[in-house]
Amino acid sequence: MLQKTSHFMRQANLIGGEWVEADSGATLDVTNPANGQKIGTVPKSGKAETRRAIKAAEKAFHSWKKTSANDRAKLLRKLHDVIMDNQDALAELLTMEQGKSLAEAKGEVAISAAYILWFAEEGRRTYGDVVPSPWADRRILVTKEPVGVIAAITPWNFPSSMLARKIGPALAAGCTSVVKPASQTPYSGLAWGALCEEAGFPKGVVNIVTGSAGEIGDELCTNPLVKKITFTGSTEVGKLLIEKSASTVKKVSMELGGNAPFIVFDDADIDRAVEGAMVAKYRNSGQTCVCTNRFFVQSGVYDQFVDKLAAASKKLKVGAGLDEGTQQGPLIDVKAVEKVEELIGDATSKGARVVTGGKRHELGGSFFEPTVISGATTAMRVMKEEIFGPVAPVFRFDKEEEAVAMANDTEFGLACYFYSGDLGRVFRVTEALKYGMVGVNEGLITTVEAPFGGVKESGLGREGGHQGIDDYLDTKYVCIGGL
Ligand code: ADP
Repeated sequence: MLQKTSHFMRQANLIGGEWVEADSGATLDVTNPANGQKIGTVPKSGKAETRRAIKAAEKAFHSWKKTSANDRAKLLRKLHDVIMDNQDALAELLTMEQGKSLAEAKGEVAISAAYILWFAEEGRRTYGDVVPSPWADRRILVTKEPVGVIAAITPWNFPSSMLARKIGPALAAGCTSVVKPASQTPYSGLAWGALCEEAGFPKGVVNIVTGSAGEIGDELCTNPLVKKITFTGSTEVGKLLIEKSASTVKKVSMELGGNAPFIVFDDADIDRAVEGAMVAKYRNSGQTCVCTNRFFVQSGVYDQFVDKLAAASKKLKVGAGLDEGTQQGPLIDVKAVEKVEELIGDATSKGARVVTGGKRHELGGSFFEPTVISGATTAMRVMKEEIFGPVAPVFRFDKEEEAVAMANDTEFGLACYFYSGDLGRVFRVTEALKYGMVGVNEGLITTVEAPFGGVKESGLGREGGHQGIDDYLDTKYVCIGGL
């Protein structure tokens, strides 16, 4: 098994084109969440290594920014091909460190490649403006330039594609980068270094350091050579990074937590809603920031929806991601299982009923049963807190306004979903929901062509779509006088 992945499984930092250990030689262990076994180690780096990686990126920026958009696009297209040529090996590595099923891992690798291809194309379209001048003797131009060195900090739930959405636009725009992957899943991050080498990117354009989140994060946020921080992770850490970046007034883009509502109206196609609910809830074992956290179901279809969702949930095949036919892998670690247990305990102590699941899976470790809870109420912690696990609490409502009010009663505003067959209601509810992304009669909406991102405390900026490259560009206004 390891043979296929070994070429991409790098156990070192990539700084200025060299694969190097931490200065101290210290390492962190990486384990497989499906069996708790050690897969390998990565360097436990800190400030010094990060500073060198930033310097390497700064050095590379001087020549990288001068390449043409077309030349960068060619390299990105090559990168896309290298990823797809190695889709299986990369997916296996991803499953091994992250736990998701191999089918989902292959999907993630494919969407990573798709982001790279998308930005290869978008990089050639970073148009400026020629603005009609109010002065007869002056002309106004507006141009776009790469911001410079960018730093990317990414989470463990999508260790490949969260980097694709950052490295893709950065490279396309002419920026260079320093990347810090999550310590639980560093190999899919480090693999980007090997992939970029194979595609032929110059040394220092992509640098990767693993290790102490606090130390690396501090250096990335406070070093004046870094012009932009892009982060995907918890709202708590995101706020910290924004605060730290204030000292050098960096651009920041943040993809933070969500608390996605999924509303099912009486007039919905219930089978379609259940199908969408299964994806929106259980993808990656419920560990995505756009996973449904709260189901709101109208009284007329409540029992039917709960029964059908429970029946479908029961059928999900739980197992190790690498095992044939697995649909749901383990949670990332036992801490995540404990959080899920706590939230279920809180809900049942306040009157909710477990319809299916509700406990650790017989496979042990961090496996958990797909769970449906009926009778959820706004007094329960699941109303406010991100579950990040395979638990579906179902709330009941009578009126449209009631559902919208409950859906919006959160500091988060990332994705939301609703199902209705009434055209007027579709527009009313879409407009009333305070979210960055709305799925109407759809439970899976992420795609490279569309802008992904949140409002409120779910974040700043957008990834993907034509918007996804904006954050990597500075606008320059040029006034040419004396004509
Ligand atoms: P999660 O709760 O999903 O693990 P986190 O926000 O804790 O999300 O982690 C997301 C990423 O942020 C990871 O790469 C993690 O190592 C990093 N991180 C965590 N704490 C800090 C910090 N204080 N400074 C910088 N990065 C951090």
